[in-house]
Amino acid sequence: MNEPLKKARALLENVTPLTTDCGLLCECACCKADEDSGDSVWLFPGEEEIDFFWGEVTDVLLPVTKTPAKSLYCTDFCPRESRPFQCMIFPLVPYFSNKKNAWSVRMDRRAFAVCPLTAYGKKGLNPEFVENAEKAVQLLSETETGERFLEALAREESVYREFSL
Ligand code: SF4
Ligand code: SF4
Repeated sequence: MNEPLKKARALLENVTPLTTDCGLLCECACCKADEDSGDSVWLFPGEEEIDFFWGEVTDVLLPVTKTPAKSLYCTDFCPRESRPFQCMIFPLVPYFSNKKNAWSVRMDRRAFAVCPLTAYGKKGLNPEFVENAEKAVQLLSETETGERFLEALAREESVYREFSL
């Protein structure tokens, strides 16, 4: 795993969407499969080195961009420090902010069907979580592979967003 990915993950290891356990609000809805969120989590390149003992990793192509990726299908709950980056930043998703001319995060439109926090917008989340998620995606954009994968993730979400508005 490269240093930017390690640092990005470390930024989110101990900070959560709310300062309390939001999983109690929804019985961890984001860990359950549904029509919009799908039934597995795409791994950031390098995360396949983690021991995902609670699930199974398979090769996939992202549906819109056809980017090859690894995907984790969970059959049990996990420790926060080992979960994929995508789970660590949920319900946020990376996007490139033209206004800031930098990578940033916004509410993941695909999360609206499952996550009760989406109703309150980004401002309703723990500010430290949002700040660290933004710093984390900026760190990930420092490598070419990281930026390419951020672009793919952002594209997947933005296509969903266009069709759901
Ligand atoms: S669905 Fe939202 S509120 Fe529920 S555990 Fe996931 S992030 Fe927290
Ligand atoms: S890796 Fe953990 S947080 Fe992510 S979906 Fe699986 S069980 Fe939930």
